[in-house]
Amino acid sequence: MSRKFVELEFYETYYHANIVSNVIEDPYSYIRLIHEWYEDCEEDVFLPAFPKQSRLHGLAAHIIANLIHEKFSDPESYSLANNGGDNVWIDRALKHHNLPCDGFADFVEGQVDSLDQVTEDHLFDYHQELGLAGHTEMLVERLSSEVFHILFSNRKLLALFNEFMARGLGQFFDKIPESELGRNLSRPGRLKRVRIPAWVKRAVFFRDRGKCSLCQKDLSGILSTQPDSQYDHIIPLAAGGLNDVTNIQLLCQTCNGKKSKRRVAVSNVYEAWY
Ligand SMILES: [Zn+2]
Repeated sequence: MSRKFVELEFYETYYHANIVSNVIEDPYSYIRLIHEWYEDCEEDVFLPAFPKQSRLHGLAAHIIANLIHEKFSDPESYSLANNGGDNVWIDRALKHHNLPCDGFADFVEGQVDSLDQVTEDHLFDYHQELGLAGHTEMLVERLSSEVFHILFSNRKLLALFNEFMARGLGQFFDKIPESELGRNLSRPGRLKRVRIPAWVKRAVFFRDRGKCSLCQKDLSGILSTQPDSQYDHIIPLAAGGLNDVTNIQLLCQTCNGKKSKRRVAVSNVYEAWY
């Protein structure tokens, strides 16, 4: 399948997307989760310009990996395992996504005489085994890219997400080596302006349907002549914004000119399907 297509199975995707958007809308209630994520990625999460695995993919993957972990320590999963083995959540999810899956029942075969002898420890070992085989990671990648697919169209949510990412960049500034000045940073706490890659422009152009996202002016005719100036950082670089596909929107020159260096302006107006 070409890189420009993505296969979506929509397996509990809205449930996951809902949790990710709750975290973004109210990050202070999930501060431990967010700090764990920051710690996992350290300052690297902020510096590279326009990684294809956007920061939203990263946060979604962290949240989903946590949810999977919780499912393994959840007594309900454990009793489901007791009730037939095939009901383990991760087996259903792996099979749904056509990912390799031997199944929990096969895993415990030989270890117990019957499934009602399964204990929490078997479930824990199975979790470890799937982790080592890379199956959990593959699943997390699939699920997080489905969440991204949905949330990428919500500009207000992207603005909130990038707002807290900008606060994170501020917090992590002390940890960022001075050698980054001039490389990724234009000055302390501020990322350098870089050329926006063609794939980012394409993604944003199609999401915003070739129209200014604030005044809906049609920009499809003038895009080729003014390549970068129509692509606006939702959270400006001057306010700690990131070079990330989630932080870019399409704006006409007039709206871009009106938007001051530190202002954040997003619209919740979208072109209707019909
Ligand atoms: Zn406009």
